[in-house]
Amino acid sequence: MKIIMLGAPGAGKGTQASRIAEKYQIPHVSTGDIFRANIKNGTDLGKEAKKYMDQGQLVPDELTVRILLDRVAQDDCKNGYVLDGFPRTIPQAEVLDAELTKLGTKVDYAVNVEVPDENIIGRMSGRRACLKCGATYHLEFLRPKTEGICDNCGSELVLRDDDKPETVKKRLTVYHDQTQPLIDYYTEKGVLKTVDGTVSPEQVFQAIENILGA
Ligand code: ADP
Ligand code: AMP
Repeated sequence: MKIIMLGAPGAGKGTQASRIAEKYQIPHVSTGDIFRANIKNGTDLGKEAKKYMDQGQLVPDELTVRILLDRVAQDDCKNGYVLDGFPRTIPQAEVLDAELTKLGTKVDYAVNVEVPDENIIGRMSGRRACLKCGATYHLEFLRPKTEGICDNCGSELVLRDDDKPETVKKRLTVYHDQTQPLIDYYTEKGVLKTVDGTVSPEQVFQAIENILGA
């Protein structure tokens, strides 16, 4: 099963993608996590990506597409995957489709997690992220068992550099300009499924399970 998560920054794509990955036994592939791991390790890719991420801008398509295609070509992705944060532009979606067509396959579902802009700033300022395993928490809505520590891997949780309110506003503008058109794109392909992202994470997941099946 090949699933794409769509939605504004902070809509809950990562939260739901990790649940989908666990239930359906497919890898959770997050381009944002790949960039952050590279930043943490001080690679050239990380240095290049950071310039854009800190400004709330998208990393250029060419670079992003390359790292994504490398990732999904790995063995663990052969039975499918859930993409979180990719595609974010129409050209990215077109490259993915062309690649999948070559392999005789296609995207099965594009799950659009819908949350109004008013809710997003609060979600992002309370988000705490584990830069080691990619898990995310929220100070109020999804607290870790021990404050400041990742339940999964025991690493320290941080406020992401790009989750400051000024950067979040910029990211929302970029989302509306460049990413939201993908909703029409995947509607036309007949694979778009929209869920209400304003309810609890459990309720959102329930709605997604109803779409994806048992
Ligand atoms: P995205 O991957 O779309 O940027 P995240 O999954 O990281 O978003 O979620 C953003 C923040 O909102 C996180 O702090 C997360 O714990 C919290 N969150 C996710 N889903 C919900 C929800 N349904 N209700 C309230 N908070 C949520
Ligand atoms: P995320 O973790 O999905 O919120 O992504 C964090 C940041 O990484 C984004 O604001 C972009 O700067 C960059 N990024 C992640 N995925 C992509 C993508 N598909 N295209 C371009 N930039 C991306």
